[in-house]
Parts: sequence; C-alpha cells; structure tokens
Amino acid sequence: MKQNIKNPLYLMKILITLILLLISVMFLKDINIDKNIQPYLMIGFLVIFLALNIYLFVSKILIKDKSIKTIPFNSVKDNNTLESSYNISDMPDISFDDIAGFDEIKSQVFEIIDFIKHPKKYNDLKVKLPKGILLVGPPGVGKTLIAKAIASNAGVPFYYQSGATFVEMYVGLGAKRVVDLFNRAKLNSPSIIFIDEIDAIGQKRDSSNSQEREATLNQLLTQMDGFENSNGTIVIAATNRIDVLDNALLRSGRFDRRVFIHLPTLSDRIKILNRYLKGRDHNINIELISKKISGFSGAEIENLVNESALYALRLNERSLRNEHLLKIKDSIQQNKEIKLMLDDKDRDNVALDKASKALFMYQNNFSFESINLLEKSIHFDDKKIVSNIELTNWIKYYLVGYCAILEKNSEIISYSSGDLKEAKRLIGLYFDEYMMNHLLKQNITKKEYFDSLIDECKSFINDNNAKILVLKKRLLDSEIIKKEEINEIF
Ligand code: ADP
Repeated sequence: MKQNIKNPLYLMKILITLILLLISVMFLKDINIDKNIQPYLMIGFLVIFLALNIYLFVSKILIKDKSIKTIPFNSVKDNNTLESSYNISDMPDISFDDIAGFDEIKSQVFEIIDFIKHPKKYNDLKVKLPKGILLVGPPGVGKTLIAKAIASNAGVPFYYQSGATFVEMYVGLGAKRVVDLFNRAKLNSPSIIFIDEIDAIGQKRDSSNSQEREATLNQLLTQMDGFENSNGTIVIAATNRIDVLDNALLRSGRFDRRVFIHLPTLSDRIKILNRYLKGRDHNINIELISKKISGFSGAEIENLVNESALYALRLNERSLRNEHLLKIKDSIQQNKEIKLMLDDKDRDNVALDKASKALFMYQNNFSFESINLLEKSIHFDDKKIVSNIELTNWIKYYLVGYCAILEKNSEIISYSSGDLKEAKRLIGLYFDEYMMNHLLKQNITKKEYFDSLIDECKSFINDNNAKILVLKKRLLDSEIIKKEEINEIF
C-alpha cells in the first residue's frame, strides 16, 4: 500500500477522479436538472468512480498474486515461464526469536538490517556495505532461517533460489534466470536475494566446468557488479564449501562479507532443544541430552524431538522421556555421515587435541578466529608462500595434538591419522619440493627430522601443561574458544 501511494500512476488516477468529480458537479449545476435529483446523481457518479477504483485496485492485487506463484523447477521448459521460476515471499514470517542460540551470529547481521532500514545513514557517511554476504556452514544449521529473519526484520521482500536449480541443460537458461531474479529484486528494492547452495554454480572455473554453469556464474558476477544504484538490495548466499568457490565470487564488491555458522555448541543445543520441547509434555533432562548430541545441527535436533514424540506415541506414552530421545539419537547417529559423534572419552581426547593446537597456533601467530571442538581445524594452504620456519610450524601444528594425547592420556587414537598424514606430506614438501632441508643438519633423513619434531612437540606439551588444561576445560564446557578469549586467559 505504501508503495502504491508513492507510485505516480496511482497519484494520477486519484487526480483524474477528483477532476472528473469536479467537472460533474459543475456540469450538474449548470444544466437544468431537478434540484431534488442532483444529490442522487452526484452520489451515483461517486459510486461509479469508487467502484472503478476498487476494481482496478483488486485486479492489480490479483495480477501480483499470480506473479508470485512458484512453479516447480522441473516444469520450467521454455523462456516464457522463466520469470516464475523462483520463490518470493513478500516478507517471511520469521523472527530472530525463532532462531535458538547463535547470539553472536545474530549480532553480526544486525548491521545489515540497519543498513537496509536506514541506507541514508550509511550513504551520508559514504560507508560501503557489502553487496553480498556469504553464510558458510554445514547443512541444517539455520542459514536459510537467518537469511529469512534478516528480510523479515528489515521488512523487505525475500527472493529465494537454490543454486542447483539455476543450472539447466539448456545453455543460457541459467544466466537468464539470474537476470530475471535480479531484475525482480531490484524492482522491489530494498529486498533480499537468497541463493542457497551457491557452490552449485559458483565452483572454481576450470576445463571440467560445463558451459552452462560458467555462463550462469558469469551472469551472476555481472549482475553483482552492476548493482551500485539499486538502493538496498542485498544478495545473501549460503554454502557448505567455501573452499570450492571461484575466487571471483569472493573478491571485494561481491561476497566479501562472510558469516561462519558452526554446528550448535552445547549452550546453543540447550536453547534449540528447549525451543522444540516447548509446549510438549515431557520429563527431559535438557542438559544431559544436549551433551549427548554434540555434532547435531538445529535441523537434526528438531527432527530428533519430532521422531522421539512419534516413538513415544508408538509406545502408547503421552509424555517424552530421556530414553525416547536417546533411542532415536542412536538411530540418527548411525545414519549420519559426520564422523564427529563423540562419546565422553572421545570428547576428552578431541578437546585435548584441539586445546594443544589452539595454544600452539596462538603462540606462533597463526591466523585463526576460533577453534571448535566439533569442526575441522584450519588447514595448510598449498598456494601460500611459506618460509622454512613457517612450514616447520605447520608440521608441528599437525603433530601437537597427537603428542598431547600420547603424553597426557598415554594413548594413540585413530582420530590423529589425518593430521599425521598431513605432517608427513609437508615433510615431503620440505625436503623434496622446497629443498628446505639444506638448512638442517647435513644428511638428516625425513624420518629423523620427523622424530625430532615429535620430540619438540612433546616438550611443548609438557612445558604448557597448565595452559592446555585450561583451554581443554573451556572447550569441553562451551565447545568453542575464540582467539580473543585465549588473549584474555593468558
Ligand atoms: P540450512 O539453510 O543451514 O541448511 P535451514 O535454515 O534450512 O538450514 O534449517 C532447517 C531447519 O532446521 C529450520 O527450518 C529450523 O526448523 C531448524 N533449525 C536450524 N537451526 C535452528 C535454530 N538455531 N533454531 C531453531 N531451529 C533451527
């Protein structure tokens, strides 16, 4: 409605109606019509004009409704139906209260909402906000939910398109879809475009890429570059695989703002479980269950509660108990791909591994933001230029967790195998590719060098025993430690 009033066509229509009314009044005054009939005639005119306006208004809504219908993608066969090939919801009905936990992530996106609501404030100070925001995280952690909550909170339309559905077998169709999507969103700006699974179109370009995928990606880049004047349209994309994305997408002026959404930590899981148990009859120890479901995403916790309720019903029970959730948890875990389903002993070992890595990274100025008990740690990037000292530190980084478990728990666990493999690979680079061994003792073998680094790592663990235990406890309690926290602790 607000937009209609601003619309010049709408204003013109009101003006013409008023002029016609004025003319009719003057006309009725001048011609000789019975004074008793005059008021009825005027009311008659008024009713006709009003009816006409109501008709035009209603038909406009109907037309608009038609255009927001979603056509399943597979049914899109030709260019004529392109424009209906994405979802638009005028404003998703999702608030940030619907997203349990993840408070720091919510605070990161509030600035974006403020920008959409008050662009002038930012424009006046010539603040350049990102055109694109990349939400990076595993499936089911609430990326779509967050994007919808941003649109809803900012009060703007939300255009949803999954990356996979852009890529069709006809060359050029995906590119047309991109143009269509952006045109629509710009027409209704401020607005949010959400591209789920952007890796489906945004993968690094190489010879194996299809022509269609490449054309679609190029069009997406072109659209984002031509965005300057569109006044508050923001593109949000989600991916689980930032490592496979084409560098062009990550360049400044495109998806240069990244929000990493990790698997829910213990406190997040407590909040999510609480949310989905609300309104159900239960006798659940929420903290106990939350501890047992490390590695579950928000979507999986929702599913766990739902499946457990069904299971309870099958047993003819009306109230949820711990046992119901634990039983369903086991069957979900068996089907889960993620290997990081940890029992208490595993958690202890992994926390020790990660705590020693965190301290090592901190003391050796590695670039990292946080370390998460449940997620993969940072990895050596082969493309970076490194000195012999830096490469040695990377090798030690891969060995330090193994040494911590060996020294503290007198154990060697299969969990370390990936790290050991990487350490050996880097020693291979050190000797064979970069010939850094010329700086070492003459004729030292790879094996001897490996053993000497293991000894250094063991000394590191023993010299920093107390610090590692503090970090380990922190990881076991909250499952995540930020670099600034390590700063504060030590
Ligand atoms: P993603 O886009 O990361 O794959 P979604 O946003 O589609 O995940 O989440 C799927 C569903 O999981 C949501 O619709 C919601 O029901 C549930 N969910 C995920 N995370 C949360 C959360 N933090 N709080 C509440 N529900 C959640």
